[in-house]
Amino acid sequence: MGVAPRELPHILVVGGGYVGMYTALGLQSKLSQGDASITVVDPQPQMTYQPFLPEAAAGSIEPRHVVVPLRRVLKRCRVVCGRVTKVEHADHVATIENCGGNVEQIGYDVLVMAPGSIARTLPIPGLAECGISFKTIGEAIYLRNHVLSRLEAADASIDVQLRRRLLSFVVIGGGYAGIEVLAELEDMARYACRYYQTVEPADMRWVLVEAAGRIMPEVSLALGRYTVKRLAQRGIEIFLNTRVNTMENGHVVLDNGTEFDADTIVWTAGVKANPVLRQTDLPLDDRQRLRCQPTLQVVSCPDAFSAGDCAAVPDLTPLDPDATTSPSAQHAVRQAEVLADNVIAYLRGQPLRHYQHRDAGSVASLGLYRGVAEIYGIRFTGPLAWLMHRTYHLSRMPTFNRKVRILTDWTAALLFRREVVALGQINDPKAEFVRATTVS
Ligand SMILES: Cc1cc2nc3c(=O)[nH]c(=O)nc-3n(C[C@H](O)[C@H](O)[C@H](O)COP(=O)(O)OP(=O)(O)OC[C@H]3O[C@@H](n4cnc5c(N)ncnc54)[C@H](O)[C@@H]3O)c2cc1C
Repeated sequence: MGVAPRELPHILVVGGGYVGMYTALGLQSKLSQGDASITVVDPQPQMTYQPFLPEAAAGSIEPRHVVVPLRRVLKRCRVVCGRVTKVEHADHVATIENCGGNVEQIGYDVLVMAPGSIARTLPIPGLAECGISFKTIGEAIYLRNHVLSRLEAADASIDVQLRRRLLSFVVIGGGYAGIEVLAELEDMARYACRYYQTVEPADMRWVLVEAAGRIMPEVSLALGRYTVKRLAQRGIEIFLNTRVNTMENGHVVLDNGTEFDADTIVWTAGVKANPVLRQTDLPLDDRQRLRCQPTLQVVSCPDAFSAGDCAAVPDLTPLDPDATTSPSAQHAVRQAEVLADNVIAYLRGQPLRHYQHRDAGSVASLGLYRGVAEIYGIRFTGPLAWLMHRTYHLSRMPTFNRKVRILTDWTAALLFRREVVALGQINDPKAEFVRATTVS
């Protein structure tokens, strides 16, 4: 354990997601080598482009192509694979548990806190054991294999009750992440049914449970209603104003009395700021986010900056003076640009600028050729919205390399039809070897 010595001003970036990676990119391109040293710490050595996770789960995009290797793009930064567990800003020291398990301390002059958010959970019996969230590439790969392997298992079984359980899929939480993963997985599973002799699309049960009276708060009520209608036409059951009471052993009980068994329960009921923020001496708001100024400096800490899902950044556009920017990639990317400029201005003793951006709207895919979008209040649906979703996110996908690879995936899927292979073994790769070692 020891604090690394330093000569140049040292910028420590905690998190290599949207905010962390884009901030580091901005810093390395605008600062020269002799100006500062930059360290980026993240438990994953890659940035995940989360809006493409549903398509990765559905097999429209190769999962590897929705992540960007940090070392490849941040050539002038030191990338440390590890987790920051504590920040003592009064002493300008962060504690890191690196991926090898070592605990080290690292000193810094300027801090950029960008560890994002984690799934917001509730004390529902069975949630930890039976639920899975949808925020990482590992979860997307797991869910794809899991859903396809449920079709396999159902096809291999004649037990009616077991088949019903295997073919019941539930998504809890109707924000865009929940709706997209539900729609994309259902679309994929429906397509895959043609390869199974005993599984028909009508045998599957897809359910959405949402506690509020509407879905996708990011778009207008009318577009939310339209989306509900379209999903219902596909046979998806939608329970609004409904909560899950329990899901012990996969037995889902809703507060409206509905009960059923499900082998797949996806939890997408919102996010909360990363709890590592509580292991810092930085000021937090009532939602445990870092309190920031419009310059993205942490309140009363001019040499600490933050943005993205973990930060309470004043939203300067609406009339409500207490409003903060929503947790979205749209804000995270733009905030990172301002953040990088402001860190440089701070180091040079120049004035800092304010972050201000009006929400442009949202685009969401509901499966192949189906989508909804709302851009500056104008609504789009169907194939056009789906195309807008793909075009927008492709344009936002970092690096030319990843853009080309994703475009190639989409083209291949159009030419050779959808990939429905289930690599279920990935979820338990040692099983075969363990079997081999136990057979005499
Ligand atoms: C499925 C899905 C679909 C989405 N679709 C959209 C969309 O269509 N449009 C949109 O605007 N937004 C979308 N979002 C939201 C958007 O992805 C987030 O708002 C955005 O990623 C926030 O950026 P961030 O940098 O704050 O966090 P992240 O991008 O999550 O980055 C946080 C990083 O911090 C790292 N980290 C965590 N803990 C630590 C630690 N202790 N030490 C060091 N590093 C740590 C993580 O590994 C991660 O790399 C979607 C999100 C999901 C999950």
